[in-house]
Amino acid sequence: MDEGCRRFLWTQRIPGQQLRAVGISHVDPLWGRDGDHGKENAVPLARSDVVVVGAGVIGLTTAVCLAEAGMGVVIRSAELPRETTSAVAGALCGPTITGPEDSRTGWGLVSDAEFAVLAGQPETGVRLMRGRLVSRVGHAAPAWAPRVPGYLPCPAEQMPSGFSVGFWVRIPAADMPRYLDYLLGRVVAAGGRLELGTLNDLAEAAARAPVVVNCSGAYARDLAADTNVHPVLGQHVILENPGLDSFLHEYDAPSAWTAFLPHGERVLLGGVAVENGWERRSDPEVTRHILTRCIEVEPRLAGARILGVEIGLRPARTTVRLEEELLTGARCIHNYGHGGSGVSLSWGCARTVLAMITGESEA
Ligand SMILES: Cc1cc2nc3c(=O)[nH]c(=O)nc-3n(C[C@H](O)[C@H](O)[C@H](O)COP(=O)(O)OP(=O)(O)OC[C@H]3O[C@@H](n4cnc5c(N)ncnc54)[C@H](O)[C@@H]3O)c2cc1C
Repeated sequence: MDEGCRRFLWTQRIPGQQLRAVGISHVDPLWGRDGDHGKENAVPLARSDVVVVGAGVIGLTTAVCLAEAGMGVVIRSAELPRETTSAVAGALCGPTITGPEDSRTGWGLVSDAEFAVLAGQPETGVRLMRGRLVSRVGHAAPAWAPRVPGYLPCPAEQMPSGFSVGFWVRIPAADMPRYLDYLLGRVVAAGGRLELGTLNDLAEAAARAPVVVNCSGAYARDLAADTNVHPVLGQHVILENPGLDSFLHEYDAPSAWTAFLPHGERVLLGGVAVENGWERRSDPEVTRHILTRCIEVEPRLAGARILGVEIGLRPARTTVRLEEELLTGARCIHNYGHGGSGVSLSWGCARTVLAMITGESEA
């Protein structure tokens, strides 16, 4: 990952000074020193109140909550936000329809309220979008359907062919690259910063701060030695938008489904879920299947220019791990394992982390 990060910095020609101007510095993982200086000019790594490991949606949202509460926050990440799995997500921001953990904790409800506010601010990359949730299973909408904002059964002429159930909803969706930039901007505005570099061990972070928050997604399997978390690979085909302004998502199809989601000039087409796929390499056969399925339900996608294929690793786990353990010399709060709902649960989980650190009850 570090090599990829270096390649990215090189190909984007972002000089160190410019990175620092937006609150990013590059740390040589071997020497633990600022990569812009020679080893002879090494600067000691500054201590902070909290080290957040990970710059995906979970790490950045957590960092926003902690930095805006007045804590000194350093985010340590092997990748830039736009290189993470989070940047690949669609992303529908909720409500979380299926996660069992959600009804128990209300993380989704907290996040829904936050996304409703963000959707009113265009610079966030979040907006309310109409779309159809559809299924090939059964003939009646599921019991949860009427609770989704904007619920309206699909008239027969708006049902895509091959589907037996469908209804319209109106929910927030995030253009993730823009949304992650927005989150990092909030962290930096509150005095936090992002440091690029891989951690070999959570103890390295514990040496830097009294509190470590572990938001390493699927990579927590190694970093936290947790075999319960594993990657579920997802693939999106990105097309030039032929003029779509609503999304379509097939629910009740666990391993391969039909989905498209427009974001400005781009449309993201999905989707698949490949258990334990660690290789972030696209599969041309999967690309072909995704294109065929989507064009079948939306003929305007035929002939649209392919802009790219993106891969992400959903951090699947039996339940989200949001709990504390003691490392030598530091508290460590784990916040990972959000599977296919990380965006939708992000604000609720981040607020729980804040409450755990301060000992105050959640607002
Ligand atoms: C195709 C696809 C579509 C999706 N659609 C949706 C959707 O519509 N709605 C939704 O809510 N969710 C969706 N998801 C799920 C969502 O993307 C994830 O749940 C979420 O991105 C997980 O975020 P994260 O921050 O935990 O992990 P990541 O984004 O993977 O971030 C992990 C971070 O940890 C860092 N890291 C890991 N190990 C180390 C280390 N040793 N040292 C330093 N840094 C390290 C990484 O560099 C990275 O910055 C989708 C996922 C995919 C793949």
